[in-house]
Amino acid sequence: MRILIVEDEVRLAHTLADLLKRQGYTADECHDGVSGLDNASSGIYDLVLLDAMLPGMDGFTLLRRLRSDGHTVPVLMLTARSDVTDRVHGLDSGADYYLTKPFEPQELLACVRLLLRRGGETRLDDALTYGDLRLESGTFTLNCQERSVRLSRREYDLMELLMRNGSQIVTKEQLLLKVWGYDSDAEDNNVEVYISFLRRKLTHLHSAVRIKTIRMVGYCLEVES
Ligand code: CA
Repeated sequence: MRILIVEDEVRLAHTLADLLKRQGYTADECHDGVSGLDNASSGIYDLVLLDAMLPGMDGFTLLRRLRSDGHTVPVLMLTARSDVTDRVHGLDSGADYYLTKPFEPQELLACVRLLLRRGGETRLDDALTYGDLRLESGTFTLNCQERSVRLSRREYDLMELLMRNGSQIVTKEQLLLKVWGYDSDAEDNNVEVYISFLRRKLTHLHSAVRIKTIRMVGYCLEVES
């Protein structure tokens, strides 16, 4: 799960990013409205945390533009102002939820979980299953019957994306964007290296699930009968 934080108070942005990363989410930061809109429009995020007062473009304007361009990514608005008219303004602009600063970390995490669930990607007990595999987000563990292996952060993100798509092809470009992020210098062969790590782990697990290479395109999962 990839979360974008658009917040110009850099220390707060870092604190939020750390909090989310400790819960197993991937978090990126933007510190102004213009780059915030750019990134929020990229389609690679599952949730956006959006500050109301931002340099460049305020959060309300950003949100209206995002929604008028047809982007449905869930947005949690953060603001120092607790004024009712502001809250209404935020919701009218297309926010899914509103949180007034200062808030408790637990309160923020509860909102994040709520909005990610509402985003349509159901998480049963925070685990994702495909074929005989079960991927647990809290522990970064991939299980197959009694066997289990720990995954690295990148392996986990890759495997999560593959399992969510199942037999549908995920392109190398999508993998690079979702797993390595927008500004990364990672290249196709980074993906290949991590795919080979995952294949080794699938073999170790004796799983019937295989990662199939679609030449020049990407990867998908298949279950061996
Ligand atoms: Ca601000």
